[in-house]
Amino acid sequence: MAYIGIGSNLDDPVRQVKDAIEELEAIPDSVLAACSSLYSSKPMGPADQPDYVNAVAALDTLLSAEDLLQALKKIEDRQGRDRSGDKWGPRVIDLDLLLYGKKKINTEELTVPHPGMHKRDFVIIPLAEIAGNVNIPGHGQLTTLINQCVNHSLKKLITGK
Ligand code: AMP
Repeated sequence: MAYIGIGSNLDDPVRQVKDAIEELEAIPDSVLAACSSLYSSKPMGPADQPDYVNAVAALDTLLSAEDLLQALKKIEDRQGRDRSGDKWGPRVIDLDLLLYGKKKINTEELTVPHPGMHKRDFVIIPLAEIAGNVNIPGHGQLTTLINQCVNHSLKKLITGK
């Protein structure tokens, strides 16, 4: 199972996240297995930007991690992602490959588990909704990590299915 982190804080973020979920459903050779609730969170980095909307999706996929990353980038492009901004700046959509089964990947293009995910409540809490007590390779079990992550004032906006 692959897990994908979804985030947006521009141009109607709830709609952007829902659109991205629909796009994930259409990725070839893949089935959207589950999707978390939608949450709001305070931004990391510059505080003078809108709050984020976040969710996590589970994708059962036959694609390689590299091909899946390309599919995620295509979705970001279709939703008008501007890559010229600040690393921590506002964005219309951000799709991160959080986990790809139990694999650890470290290439120029791809780091899995996604760096920093284990410390972020806006990743860990939605992930726990749909992945149970999954192991984050190199970091341990999810239930342990929940108590250690940084608080971004997470609030549930829309309950997932
Ligand atoms: P971002 O600003 O989060 O959209 O970062 C995009 C860049 O991070 C892409 O060009 C990817 O090649 C790289 N990257 C490395 N690891 C990952 C990952 N696990 N998920 C998404 N992007 C990644």
